[in-house]
Amino acid sequence: MKTLPDKRGYFGEWGGTFVPETLMAPLDELERAYHRARRDRAFEARLKELLDRYVGRPTPLYQARRLSARLGGAMIWLKREDLCHTGAHKINNALGQALLACEMGKRRVIAETGAGQHGVATATAAALLGLECRVYMGAEDMRRQALNVYRMQLMGAEVMSVAGGAQTLKDAINEALRDWVTHVRSTHYILGSVLGPHPYPMMVRDFQSVIGRETMAQYRQIVRGLPDCIIACVGGGSNAAGIFSAFIPHTRVRLVGVEAGGRGPGPGNHAARFAGGGAPGVLHGTRTQVLQDEDGQVESTHSVSAGLDYPAVGPEHANWRDTGRVTYTTVDDAEALAAFHLLAETEGIVPALESAHAIAQAAKVAPGMALEANIIVNLSGRGDKDLEEVARVEREQS
Ligand SMILES: *Cc1c(COP(=O)(O)O)cnc(C)c1O
Repeated sequence: MKTLPDKRGYFGEWGGTFVPETLMAPLDELERAYHRARRDRAFEARLKELLDRYVGRPTPLYQARRLSARLGGAMIWLKREDLCHTGAHKINNALGQALLACEMGKRRVIAETGAGQHGVATATAAALLGLECRVYMGAEDMRRQALNVYRMQLMGAEVMSVAGGAQTLKDAINEALRDWVTHVRSTHYILGSVLGPHPYPMMVRDFQSVIGRETMAQYRQIVRGLPDCIIACVGGGSNAAGIFSAFIPHTRVRLVGVEAGGRGPGPGNHAARFAGGGAPGVLHGTRTQVLQDEDGQVESTHSVSAGLDYPAVGPEHANWRDTGRVTYTTVDDAEALAAFHLLAETEGIVPALESAHAIAQAAKVAPGMALEANIIVNLSGRGDKDLEEVARVEREQS
């Protein structure tokens, strides 16, 4: 099997480097530093130590017996990324990149954040390693996620309000890229998903691939062999890429990515780049599948879960879709909310609304599968951050 991306950062026809000239040299430097670090035993050992003792890895592969019994059919297993320090998989990547920043002699990191999860992970890693940290966040998002803003500030990060555009994630990324161009000698930009120009999609995937490697080893030890199916939600696509990557060569394992179906079909109602009418385009430095209108204007998106609410998707996912290795489907807001309740009631686990999309997909397919079949769901995060929002949405519905 070919190693992807190729030297120019392409996964098939997707990916690449679409940035202003001033960012070409820093991206080159980043790629070289990254390859050097991955060959450096000391770097690997330091990262592993932090993942084990600080993040709490390996996270358990948990057999959800009551959930499976309730649904009937296949046995469902949960990869418990919700038990990572800070409550989601994002810390795996933030810590890897923060350590890389130290390696490159950069003492300042910046990040973009939508709901605040990646900002919190970055602020955490920066506090741990003693790095200066600035997080760009849309003004509208800052209002909606005031608690996460405080969390970041508590850890010493400076949160910058972005007033342009719709005042959300897309605008925060533009502002972070602008900061990086001006402070590139002192600063590393910690991108939060498998997005952006090369080498980010590769690097973020690799830092998250620990999820898949652990899952494979744990499954072999507990059950033997390989699972029938793995399901993960896809925002930018990092938790999915992280768990899928180890299983990509094992073609009998069915891989399913779940996008946000939101309120239903129609522009502005969802974030389904594959299932809902995205088209090839360039956004934030990479060529990928983008939700856009006929003039190429980026569409607005909606999902009950902020982490899935983004108009583009990681370029490697576009290639997996093309080759048929991964199947992409959607789960809508109502189905995700039902799964949020289902997991809480049957297992005593409150999933992040993003992860609830993957649970909902498992709930759709498990009943039609054999009792001996096994599904693994990547439980990308915990739902504490969503409690208020779910309570509010359900108050409005009743
Ligand atoms: C951010 C986030 C996601 C979506 O991001 P990916 O890069 O697609 O993984 C999913 N789940 C949780 C809990 C998140 O915080």
